[in-house]
Amino acid sequence: MRRLSILIALLLIAMPVQANMFSMLGTNVERMIGQMAYDDLVAEYGGVLELRPDAASYLDTLFTRVVEANPRRDIEFSLTPLNSREVNAFALPGGFVFVTRGLLELVDTPEELAGVLGHEVAHIAHKHGMNALVRQVGLVTLARLLLRSTEGNQEMLETLAGLSINLLKSGWSREAEYEADASGARFAATADYDPAGLIAFLTKMQEMQGDRQRDLVSTWFASHPPTEDRISKLLPLVKEHHEERFFLPNDRLPRRWVQGADPLSGLKACA
Ligand SMILES: [Zn+2]
Repeated sequence: MRRLSILIALLLIAMPVQANMFSMLGTNVERMIGQMAYDDLVAEYGGVLELRPDAASYLDTLFTRVVEANPRRDIEFSLTPLNSREVNAFALPGGFVFVTRGLLELVDTPEELAGVLGHEVAHIAHKHGMNALVRQVGLVTLARLLLRSTEGNQEMLETLAGLSINLLKSGWSREAEYEADASGARFAATADYDPAGLIAFLTKMQEMQGDRQRDLVSTWFASHPPTEDRISKLLPLVKEHHEERFFLPNDRLPRRWVQGADPLSGLKACA
């Protein structure tokens, strides 16, 4: 805590304040905020989804490939599947990525999944969550909060964790979303997944918006820039990779993600 206080004091001296200066507070604070928000987010989205063992290991392998393609090495990334029919994926500060069952059941190819997960990993790689927190509360306020006693710290972290979830649900800035699309598609390509997969997924989401499943995608659309803009910004990047061949032998999505009969299943059948 003392080291943290010195850091914060340095931050306060080093005006003018810039959003990315928050990164000087270090990975620990970022991790603590994410960890604190983790349980609330899981509870809000139906708890952790129990996957079939083969599906869990498939998802883990794909996610690890995408994570290895991102340049950030100071944190550990984790992926938590959520038991919700809503089609969505999230990223909390500190390396915590989430994907809903609704999304897993909607993807048709490994490339689509790699693109979506790449987008979330990119939010963390670019520290969009932390920068949004700074913009929301201001660096000085944040620093004052952090300078409180150790007992006060818990309360402060809870406040920031709650705020992180709200920010995450309302979406980051448009610039952050476009940046996450571009970097996410690049991470996917580096991991040997065709970056066109993200466009394919976005196109599918767009189609869902018009049908009777739209309540399952409404949060996604409320928290992201218009899909057609995202696609048109991604197209030049995908063209760059047009000549490349992406090939992962035996890479097929699991036929089923969860064990046994499940009341939540049938998303695609209804669409
Ligand atoms: Zn996003």
